[in-house]
Amino acid sequence: MAFDFEKIKNDFPILDQKIYNKQLIYFDNAATSQTPLQVIEAEANVYKTYNSNIHRGVHCLSNKCTEAFEDVRKRTAKFLNARNNFEIIFTKGATESINLVAFSFVNTFLNKGDEIIISEMEHHSNIVPWQLMKQYKGIALKIIPVNEQGELNIEAFQNLLSPKTKLLAITHISNALGTINPIKKLIDIAHNNGTKVLIDGAQAVQHIKVDVQELDCDFYVFSGHKLYGPTGTGVLFGKEDLLNSMIPYQGGGEMIQTVSFEKTTFNELPYKFEAGTPNYAGIIGLGAAIDYINEIGLDNITAYENELHKYAESQLLTIPGLRIIGTAKHKTSVTSFLVDNIHPYDMGMMLDKIGIAVRTGHHCAQPIMDKFKIPGTVRASFAFYNSKDEIDSFVSGVRKVKQMFA
Ligand code: PLP
Repeated sequence: MAFDFEKIKNDFPILDQKIYNKQLIYFDNAATSQTPLQVIEAEANVYKTYNSNIHRGVHCLSNKCTEAFEDVRKRTAKFLNARNNFEIIFTKGATESINLVAFSFVNTFLNKGDEIIISEMEHHSNIVPWQLMKQYKGIALKIIPVNEQGELNIEAFQNLLSPKTKLLAITHISNALGTINPIKKLIDIAHNNGTKVLIDGAQAVQHIKVDVQELDCDFYVFSGHKLYGPTGTGVLFGKEDLLNSMIPYQGGGEMIQTVSFEKTTFNELPYKFEAGTPNYAGIIGLGAAIDYINEIGLDNITAYENELHKYAESQLLTIPGLRIIGTAKHKTSVTSFLVDNIHPYDMGMMLDKIGIAVRTGHHCAQPIMDKFKIPGTVRASFAFYNSKDEIDSFVSGVRKVKQMFA
């Protein structure tokens, strides 16, 4: 292992606790990852020493806070390798970022009958905003099917494309199955058709390096709380020309240049899309999370998590009657499974009693559960602070629950 595991464990005091008198094992990282002390302190430090509303002040505290906030924009641009800092828009999460694009992109560029493509494996956040646009704007929604392994059918995607396809909105990594989609290939195919592409990176940026220039995606979104940052923070990357052409998402302070009752003119990027006072303390915390990840190194994280994930799946598969849902060739960090006919909720409740936190249910991805004809799964999702010892305890916990239900 290329990083100091003991030091990392000490950075996450929340992990050092007992649940029902058992050592906590936290395998619910795909829902929310834990925040290291460095992030907690960066956010607390705003409130302790320089809290003041950003951008508008002439006084020292406001300037300091503005500088810290804008510096995170630069570090986020670097993290994603965006060409320009102003292509980074801060939001409250991946959901808000997608809703922003749904409203502003569709209302700027699409007409009744134009088409948007999504896939069967999307999180509800990348389904419902487009359904709202279908309802209010009359656009059509097309769905890329997924095979039994949980991989996209690329040929079917190609067949769905038409001159009317204006956007492909697709997840980078599935939160329910762990599938890593071949997004570079999808982007190239879409662009050849003149179709723009939004990538939902909510499950990706914490696990693998993302380079938006290399990918050439038009939009890329993620949430801070899944990247070891504070909740209520998120990012939208958008290409300059698109963001400049798009109508604003929300109106209010900060996003305007001048306001009169006759006419309002809008601010330049990125402020045009950041109406109102943002969660600047949270964003400053997100900056600390990005620094933290950079310090460990995403390549190290990817290698270690892949090892954990492979180990977990190989150990789980030694349990008779256990079946993994989502067996794509390229997967990471998420393992969804069912054991015999034990309801996922029962499995989750029993594991909790021995200190193991997993997620159960449809994982906000009901269509893919319907596809597999299951009500939901038990989902274990791993982070770089997890260990093989924890996986051993988890697998023995699953075995015990199976025996209890036998
Ligand atoms: N997209 C994916 C793939 C997700 O896994 C999630 C959350 O689980 C979201 C979008 C929504 O993220 P948030 O609730 O942080 O906005």
